[in-house]
Formats: sequence, C-alpha cells, structure tokens
Amino acid sequence: MFQTAERLRRVKPSPTVILNGRVADLAAQGRNVLSLVAGEPDFDTPAHIKQSAKEAIDRGETKYTAVDGTPALRRAVAAKFERENGLAYAQDEIIVGTGGKQVVYNALMASLSAGDEVVIPAPYWVSYPEIVLLAEGTPVIVPCAPEDGFRLDPKALQAAITERTRWLILNSPANPSGAGYSREELAAIAEVLLRHPQVWILTDDIYEHLTYGGFRFATIAAVEPKLRERTLTMNGVSKTYCMTGWRIGYAGGPKPLIRAMSAIQSHSTTNAASISQAAAVAALNGPQDFIADHVAAFERRRDKVVAGLNAVEGLSCRVPEGAFYVFPSCGALLGSQAPDGGVIATDEDLALYLLDAAGIGLVHGSAFGCPGHLRLSYAASDEKLDRAIERIASACAALAPAAAPARARA
Ligand code: PLP
Repeated sequence: MFQTAERLRRVKPSPTVILNGRVADLAAQGRNVLSLVAGEPDFDTPAHIKQSAKEAIDRGETKYTAVDGTPALRRAVAAKFERENGLAYAQDEIIVGTGGKQVVYNALMASLSAGDEVVIPAPYWVSYPEIVLLAEGTPVIVPCAPEDGFRLDPKALQAAITERTRWLILNSPANPSGAGYSREELAAIAEVLLRHPQVWILTDDIYEHLTYGGFRFATIAAVEPKLRERTLTMNGVSKTYCMTGWRIGYAGGPKPLIRAMSAIQSHSTTNAASISQAAAVAALNGPQDFIADHVAAFERRRDKVVAGLNAVEGLSCRVPEGAFYVFPSCGALLGSQAPDGGVIATDEDLALYLLDAAGIGLVHGSAFGCPGHLRLSYAASDEKLDRAIERIASACAALAPAAAPARARA
C-alpha cells in the first residue's frame, strides 16, 4: 500500500486549488459558475514578451542554463532592483526560480532546521505556513486586525519573536487582504527587527506594481538599509507582466543565502525554463507603459467591487491598497439560515452556500488564517464582476437573520 511521507502528512493541500477544482466540476456539469477564485490577471501576456520567447526558441536558447538564471536575466533583475527599488545587488546575490513560489520554497528549505520558527502575519498567502511545515519549521501566526488594515502591529511582532525565530515573512501588497505597508509602517517594523539580529526577513513583493489611489510601494531593505544583509527581496513576473504560466520568480539577497538556495534548486528543477527566462528579460527591460493601463482597470474594478459588497447587508469591505483581491468581513452573516434551512455557521459554509446557491466561486477567509472573511479576486471582466455582485447580493438577501438571542426574563 502506498504510504505518504511523514513530511507530507504535516501539510494541507492548497484550498484555492481545491476550490478551483470544485468550480471547474460544477462548470463541467453545465452550471453557470462565476469564479472569483483565480490569483492571476485576466489580461494576456503582452505581445512583445511573447515575441521574445519565439525568438529565443529560434536562436536555439533551448538548453540548460546556469542554475541561478541566465546572465542576461540576472542583469535585468539587478537593473530592476536598482531602478525601481534603489537596491544594489551583484550578480551572485540574485537567483531566478520557477516562479516566486519556488524562490520562497528554496529559501525556507535552505535555512530552516526542525523547530525553527517563522513569523507569518495573518491573513497570509496559503503557501507560506505549508512550505514552513514542509521544511520542518514551525509557523508562528500573528493575527492582524481589520482595524489595523490587516497590517502587522510592531508590538505583536515583538511579542512573537523568540530565540528560535529565523524569519519574518512580509507581503505587501498582500494576498488575500490587498493591504500595503507604507514606508513609515515598514520603518516601525524595521525598528523591532533591528533589535533581533537572529531574524531574517523574506519580503514577497510580487504585487509591487499593482497599487492604487496614490499608495506608494516600499520594500524593507530599501527603507532600512541596515536590514539588507538579512533580507531576501522576492519578486517575479507573474502578476505585473501577466505571466503566471511562464513560471519565473527571482530574488536578491546576501550571497551565502543565495548560494544555499541555489544548492537546493540544483537538485530539484536545476534552472527555470530557458525560454521563459528570455521572455522575462524582455518583460523587465522592455516597455512598461501597459502596466499603467492594467492598474487603471484594476483600480476601477476594485472600486466597483468594494462599493457593491458594502451595499450588501452583512458584508463589510475595506478599500485595499493593492493586489487584485478584496477581503470583506462576513461575520454579521454567520449564524444566519439558508433558504434550505441549513445554518451558515462559518465563513466556509458561506463560501459553499454562495457556490451552490448562486454559482459564485470565492475563497473563505479561514483558508488564509483569518476566519469571518471572504476573498474575492477582481482580476475578471467588468461584466462578470457586475453579475457576480448581483448574485452575491441576492443570495445574501435570501439568508434569514441569525435568531436574536433569547431575551432574559424580567
Ligand atoms: N506570493 C504571493 C503573495 C502570491 O499571491 C503568489 C501567487 O498567487 C505567489 C507568491 C506566487 O507567484 P508565482 O509562483 O507565480 O511567481
């Protein structure tokens, strides 16, 4: 009989992948499902990037590359860090991986030993705690309150740090909350970190360019240069350049860490696909003006979705600074009764009700370590978003309010 590895028994499969599967099953049965689950832009990869990949094939760039990435891509990454973030990284301080996800995986696999702790603010991207567990580390989840804009309170960070803390994972703008940290907020976090030299910082900047309403992106190694020697600045082309399927992520960080990550990668995937690397060079070095058009579309959709959800009784949605998700609270709907008599006790019940009754695919907040919320992706057409909001509003209106608590007898 097949037996799974002990390490695999520690981790849960990705809830977003499971939900995507469920949505696909319902669609295959002929149901009209509107999925707001996807974590990827609905725009196509820009033509000049696709063209550069075709040319790379024709030039014969179809062989293994250096494990850390082609010199051309590492030069483009270094130039990007310098140009956009004011961070200087040498060629041997950069690694390219098969998506930002592999870069995170390599960093944690290369640095954690059993029992090492990793501080993860919640709500979090689903893969962080699972990768920590795969690497035999211990995730230390620190809840971030909606009143704080889902941002890590420096005092809560201070309280979570122990001698065993190896990493803090920061993600701004964040998946799933869309929360972004200003320079000042990062400086307050840096102040805590400066007191704890054993803690390294993994900053996941993959949504860097998708910010709205005058929010200005900042990254911690640039905000506090004294942390540069223990920060891994991770980024990638998936979201900004609509290249999720090409699988290119990258990071800049201290040489010993990059060398250790490279050792892990050399025994797993070797290098990211040569053709995708050529395309990423074109993405980073080529015209950037289309990004503003995408950002304008996302901002318009964000505003539409936030307004639509806030008009639904029982939902309450803050305006996120970035990414392409909204993360409304649904706490006021918990305890209510569906038309079939079932009680909506949890955010997961609500997500399943919306899928079954209204044909809406979204993800429950507890999947991201933050119960009482829902995550909707607005990387979808305006027309689809309009229809989705209408369906959510009527499905929520069909819920019978939670029974009022019995009045105490006089
Ligand atoms: N980090 C965050 C916060 C994400 O939301 C995602 C994708 O959903 C990734 C990293 C991974 O991106 P990729 O592996 O496509 O570069």
